[in-house]
Amino acid sequence: MSDLDFTGKTVIVTGAGRGLGRAYARLLASRGANVVVNDLGGDTDGADPSPGPAALVVDEISAAGGSAVTNAESVASEEGAQSIVATALETFGRIDAVVNNAGNYRLASFEELTLDTVQAFLDVHYKGSLLMARAAWPHLVKAGEGRIVNTVSAAMAGVPDMVHYGSAKGAVYGLTRNLAVAGATHGIKVNAVAPGAGTRMMDLAAAALPPGTAEYMKEHMPPEMVAPVVAYLAHPACSITGEVLNAAGGAVSRQVMMTTRGIHGPGLTPETVAARIEEICDITEAQVAELMIADQAGDR
Ligand code: NAD
Repeated sequence: MSDLDFTGKTVIVTGAGRGLGRAYARLLASRGANVVVNDLGGDTDGADPSPGPAALVVDEISAAGGSAVTNAESVASEEGAQSIVATALETFGRIDAVVNNAGNYRLASFEELTLDTVQAFLDVHYKGSLLMARAAWPHLVKAGEGRIVNTVSAAMAGVPDMVHYGSAKGAVYGLTRNLAVAGATHGIKVNAVAPGAGTRMMDLAAAALPPGTAEYMKEHMPPEMVAPVVAYLAHPACSITGEVLNAAGGAVSRQVMMTTRGIHGPGLTPETVAARIEEICDITEAQVAELMIADQAGDR
């Protein structure tokens, strides 16, 4: 396998002023990509925006001989997403891939959750990813081999005090699957990463995780150990679409939605369901959900 080179390619990385996004931007630039380093630069709730974090990462990339430009707009507004795409086009003349990584974070019990909080999380994670995809789409279609990498989370599977965050990430999962179908006829592959890394988010998540988890992640699971997976998903060599790859501490695996064989028969009653619930849920012969792409046999 030859090196996965990005020379001549332009990749947008949102939320790249810190944490995971910074590691993605630095690896992509070291592989020759022109990188748009977007970051709102605020706290984990998005307050107190600042162009500083994105500018620092651009400085780091430039000092290492790479090519990058800064953008400090929010992905959560249409104007912001359009401006990020415009930065890529005006600076580098093309867009080949978008890494939707920007994210806000906080813990909240369901009882204390306000609708404003729910909306704020949908706005950044789901709407931000959707708006970035919409703004970049015509240019990816033009490039003919576009890549979109979204970001989901273990919180999609259910963890304490993350109804707002986990369900926003669930929306990003649905976006990934359905955009993969929309992109299939244009050579656009859309996947997601479910990362795990010791970033500032982990300081907040610590309260919802088993004791010592956040400390362990900070010490042994740096963002740089996730970046190779995102680089693969953003590269023309990426052969999969509609998939979620878990990536943490050097481990990489596939996360799937499955349907069990279940039961089938006439005269179904609530009592049948009650009596056979274990059989209905048994995953022994479960099948992975397939994308409904008619003419893409061979691609998942
Ligand atoms: P982080 O807080 O270090 O980085 C997130 C970055 O996104 C910040 O720099 C922030 O300023 C930026 N951002 C927030 N809202 C923005 C907006 N509206 N527009 C542009 N930028 C914005 O956190 P991180 O751990 O690096 O998280 C990166 C992504 O990975 C997030 O989507 C997060 O939900 C996801 N994630 C992280 C982990 C983990 O273990 N760290 C686990 C699962 C998912």
